[in-house]
Amino acid sequence: NHAWLLASRPDGEPTKDNFRFVQQPIPELKEGEVLLRTAYLSLDPYMRGRMDDGKSYAAPAELNEPMVGGTVSQVAASKHADYQEGDWVLGQSGWQEYALSDGSGLAKLGNDLPHPSWALGILGMPGFTAYMGLMDIGQPKKGETLVVAAATGPVGATVGQLGKMQGCRVVGVAGGEEKCRYAVETLGFDACIDHHSNDFAEQLAAACSDGIDIYYENVGGKVFDAVFPLLNTAARVPVCGLVSGYSAKDLPEGPDRTPLIMAGILKRRIRMQGFIIFQDYGDRYSEFLSVMTPLVENKKIHYREHVIDGLENAPQAFIDMLNGKNFGKTVVKVSE
Ligand code: NDP
Repeated sequence: NHAWLLASRPDGEPTKDNFRFVQQPIPELKEGEVLLRTAYLSLDPYMRGRMDDGKSYAAPAELNEPMVGGTVSQVAASKHADYQEGDWVLGQSGWQEYALSDGSGLAKLGNDLPHPSWALGILGMPGFTAYMGLMDIGQPKKGETLVVAAATGPVGATVGQLGKMQGCRVVGVAGGEEKCRYAVETLGFDACIDHHSNDFAEQLAAACSDGIDIYYENVGGKVFDAVFPLLNTAARVPVCGLVSGYSAKDLPEGPDRTPLIMAGILKRRIRMQGFIIFQDYGDRYSEFLSVMTPLVENKKIHYREHVIDGLENAPQAFIDMLNGKNFGKTVVKVSE
């Protein structure tokens, strides 16, 4: 049973040395338990926060324990009345090949699964996040301008496509020309701006000539700085993630702009709302699945994965994802 343990807490950017690869015995199955064999491990930005031990909305990952993470697994052996060998389940086995479960926190995925890993993306936590953040907090209306960054990742790509379905003009922000081309040509965004460009803020302003009505916040940093002056009166800002700052050790240098931002929020009556998907919307998961499943099955929504082969490559893939080297939802294929 190979596993990646959290070996140390990062000082700023995470490195491979923060993880330790070990081989442990496959745990022994007891009455009332299932042994799960991981097929796919999800790598997500929130994991960076779990590596720290500060106070947050979830407990930190434990040192010298398998790193936490969402997984799609098959039941390898069962002494649990509700599960049989071969069943597909969504769970939280973490960064390891095998894990025991008493069934709590497991969701059955059915046994006829065309794309098991999609339960970690478009038909799982990131898709749910996109759906609730946009529809409940963003409140999109026909003709409005919606901006979303990390536009080709699982959250951003879904936000933008749902926004198009609501009749919005959608402007993506992504890292690099190839991602931007994909956002426009495949995902159907109206425009997509490369945040690596020197004149990124000017390009964004030009692409949002009627201002911005909804900014779905995934990244923070210089993207937020470029967006904020463009927000219209009564704009909505679902604050979903701030990935540009997850490894920051200090506040940025420069004048304190808090008064400027607060005055903008007041005068333009901007509504900003943070949310943590399962804590705020856990009771609406089945609603999400009933909307998203047919959209995916009927190919009304495009979904792209960035699949890494082999658990041994998880730490590098995680670090790469935080730095935008992924192109689509990052998943690790752990076993066949
Ligand atoms: P992605 O797969 O899109 O990966 C993160 C992306 O962020 C990178 O690929 C990169 O894309 C972009 N990025 C990284 N650094 C910067 C930077 N400095 N400036 C601009 N962009 C940057 O992630 P997800 O779709 O899984 O998640 C998107 C966001 O949603 C994250 O912030 C995540 O934490 C948040 N989230 C929040 C949840 C909640 O409950 N609130 C639940 C799930 C996700 P590019 O190369 O295009 O710049």
